[in-house]
Amino acid sequence: MELWRKILNSAVRQPAQLQRLFPSLDVKALDTVAETYPMCINPYYLSLVGTPDDPIGRQCIPDPAELDLGASPCSADPLAEESLSPAPCVVHRYPDRALFTVTTRCAMYCRFCTRKRKVGLDNPITPEMRRAGLDYIARTPEIRDVIISGGDPLLLSDEELDQILLDLRKIPHVEIIRIGTRVPCVLPHRVTRRLAGILRRYHPLFLNTHFEHPNEVTPQAVRALSRLADAGIPLGNQSVMLRGVNDDPAVFVELNRRLLACRVRPYYLYQADLVLGTEHFRTPVEDGLAVIQALRGHTSGLAVPQFVIDAPGGGGKIPLLPRYALSVERDEVQMQNYKGELYSYPQVGPQPQAVRAVPPSREPERARLT
Ligand SMILES: *Cc1c(COP(=O)(O)O)cnc(C)c1O
Ligand code: SF4
Repeated sequence: MELWRKILNSAVRQPAQLQRLFPSLDVKALDTVAETYPMCINPYYLSLVGTPDDPIGRQCIPDPAELDLGASPCSADPLAEESLSPAPCVVHRYPDRALFTVTTRCAMYCRFCTRKRKVGLDNPITPEMRRAGLDYIARTPEIRDVIISGGDPLLLSDEELDQILLDLRKIPHVEIIRIGTRVPCVLPHRVTRRLAGILRRYHPLFLNTHFEHPNEVTPQAVRALSRLADAGIPLGNQSVMLRGVNDDPAVFVELNRRLLACRVRPYYLYQADLVLGTEHFRTPVEDGLAVIQALRGHTSGLAVPQFVIDAPGGGGKIPLLPRYALSVERDEVQMQNYKGELYSYPQVGPQPQAVRAVPPSREPERARLT
């Protein structure tokens, strides 16, 4: 059996198994949580946990707060993914791209997961469901970008993945394929030479991984990322702002610097979604803006992700920026740089007629409008 499967097979799935390591845990309370929201901590990820409430422990160890039912704006499916699903395994929100969710299993169940309603539960995605999803993509020519997601797609076997990629590549309108996976972070042993060899046959293929804290960038993770980059796969990272995990700009300065050194480009920084059972992870939006402010100008521009809120109700990702543009007027733009110093930029004046490629008859009207 492959090493990664062995590691996964000895994952801790019962809170009682944590008692010996962390005697302070209230195992009974955690059992109740894990019955609703499954737990799975593989021994590799568990080895990164120092204490249950450190940045790694909080991500993987159940918390009784997950069952809090106080007044809350949270719901099971805040991004309305179910209503945007025209076929099994497909979420089609944007015109030209779609999510293809091929499994509900993961190498570790993140306590803050946006798909907490699904992951790890006993309603597995069958090959027939994936077939139906592929058929939808094949008969929808607008889709030119497919994001293979889950759960974690890299938990499928090499053969299953190879087949899915082959089927996608047979669809002429699918230009690019992306894989969204936390495996390089939570089970880097899964990134075998064989897997990289399979993935590289399906370019253009991008991979977005998911690191939340610099302590996750271990020598094993570095090796996995390097193997993927060497296979010519452009790597990105998505993180979520999480209370008690990374709600400190210094964490992202360090994390993103380390990721870049592994050829991973920070892509999105998400404000936490309003997911039922994850409210205790939420941070003020200002914290995310502070992260961007701490990065922009202070370190490589390549290390600055886009901070986004995935709009509740299914409106899609909306970028938020710290206030750099103070005013955009007709004659001048007032703005501040990364140090808070003020600058202005003069706008372009009215252009000579000869330069304007506008029919003369419409010229006066245009001039009045602008
Ligand atoms: C995030 C997301 C995408 C991809 O968005 P990009 O901005 O292109 O990375 C596509 N579909 C759904 C449903 C998404 O949530
Ligand atoms: S790996 Fe991704 S899909 Fe799985 S539990 Fe974590 S955030 Fe959710």
